[in-house]
Amino acid sequence: MDRLGRRSVAGVTEAVIGFQHGRCLICTEPLTPGTDEIAVDHVFPFSAMRRYRLTIDLDAIWNLAPAHAACNLRKSSRPPNGAELTGLARRNEAIMGSPHPLRRTLELTLGPYARRGGWRAFIRDVHQELS
Ligand SMILES: [Zn+2]
Repeated sequence: MDRLGRRSVAGVTEAVIGFQHGRCLICTEPLTPGTDEIAVDHVFPFSAMRRYRLTIDLDAIWNLAPAHAACNLRKSSRPPNGAELTGLARRNEAIMGSPHPLRRTLELTLGPYARRGGWRAFIRDVHQELS
């Protein structure tokens, strides 16, 4: 759940939904703005940040994914599963392969991982740090 509420659900959804093929990152079914109630999921739960004293920002676009509000509610603060991690890596790769302005934001987050395994390696290492 978007506990901080700092990021606009509409803004994040509009920016990245195309890179998720218009689908919910949790259940992979289509998300229809205007019909479905949409939430922005923290794929790695935001609560993990304080718990693990992470230096990486979990309230940033790399970790935020539009999802059905009901899926987001059910997921609550459970850690992401393999399919969600793969979906997030693919979504971020797709943004970086596009001319979208968020590409630069993601490049800055990825840092040296750009040359060392990309999003899959980055996400795997965050996952390991949280396990
Ligand atoms: Zn869903």
